[in-house]
Amino acid sequence: MMIDLRSDTVTRPTPAMLAAMMAASIGDDVFGEDPSVNALEQKAAAMFGMEAALFCPSGTMTNQLAIRTHVRPGDEVICDQLSHIYLYEGGGIAVNALASVALLAGERGKLTPELIAPAINNPTDPHRPLSRLVSLENTVNKGGGCYYTIPEIAAIRQLCDERGLALHLDGARLFNALAETGDAPEAYGRLFDSISICLSKGLGCPVGSLLLGSAAFIAQAKRFRKLMGGGWRQAGFLAAAGIYALDHHVGRLKQDHARARRIGQIMAAQPDVHSVLPVDTNIVIIRLHEGITNTDYIANLKERGILAVAFGPQLVRFVTHLDLTDEHIEQFGQALAGQTVGAA
Ligand SMILES: *Cc1c(COP(=O)(O)O)cnc(C)c1O
Repeated sequence: MMIDLRSDTVTRPTPAMLAAMMAASIGDDVFGEDPSVNALEQKAAAMFGMEAALFCPSGTMTNQLAIRTHVRPGDEVICDQLSHIYLYEGGGIAVNALASVALLAGERGKLTPELIAPAINNPTDPHRPLSRLVSLENTVNKGGGCYYTIPEIAAIRQLCDERGLALHLDGARLFNALAETGDAPEAYGRLFDSISICLSKGLGCPVGSLLLGSAAFIAQAKRFRKLMGGGWRQAGFLAAAGIYALDHHVGRLKQDHARARRIGQIMAAQPDVHSVLPVDTNIVIIRLHEGITNTDYIANLKERGILAVAFGPQLVRFVTHLDLTDEHIEQFGQALAGQTVGAA
């Protein structure tokens, strides 16, 4: 049996989630008549104390809709160089929003007011794009699952208010951050103009993300979703999985974090491993010694029944999730015991 640590998107719906999906009340969501979609959107908006929500097929779509809605063509988005919105969304900021990007080099993908302030262009200088939006990611995927504290975000919010910029959160793994900090979702609702959360990551849904914001913002995003072909019909079967996940899968995320820490400890003792990034949530990133390529290392792991992904030169990522047990982690340790992949 393979231990699949490639991503927290590899989970399968639990029998109880599947039962909730099969029992869903449905209707045509383009007509606004799918009761399960409406209930999910209302539930998520209420949870974060925001006015409205929009259920979408992917986190890429919710991020791209948010950016498209915040900016005008030629405006600039400020984000970290490790951001998913920049690295992994197919150049969507340029294509969907016709916007440019100011890339910053934060610590493990986290920004600060000190980094952002000099990147805000003078709005009276016609040479420069108008800085319109700051986008944060929490937890930071490429940063190894690190997270922000509320005071860190509040300082960035204050700068955005002073300079007239909107603030978006790519919260694909926001619930992992909340599990560690104990922060309330409403605190996030107060700090951001828009938030994207993924149901298909740590929460274990087969599909789905939500965009949260003001009623006017979500109404505009909904127009853009339709023009991108994202207006969907009886999406209630999927929304029912989301409602189930928000009710049953949020409270268990700390288990994923404990298992990730265990994987981090095991990897730190491996002879091929140069270092392990601090394990803050459910992501473990290892750096291999010079001379060992991540492709060889991953192929060798696969022979031992472990799946992981390359995450940059010398880097390999492992992600824990709902479908793993403590037995898997024990098996993981046994598969690696005393092994050298080799050839340094
Ligand atoms: C997974 C992820 C997304 C969205 O991905 P989709 O596959 O489009 O749902 C967005 N941001 C981050 C940080 C992610 O890890």
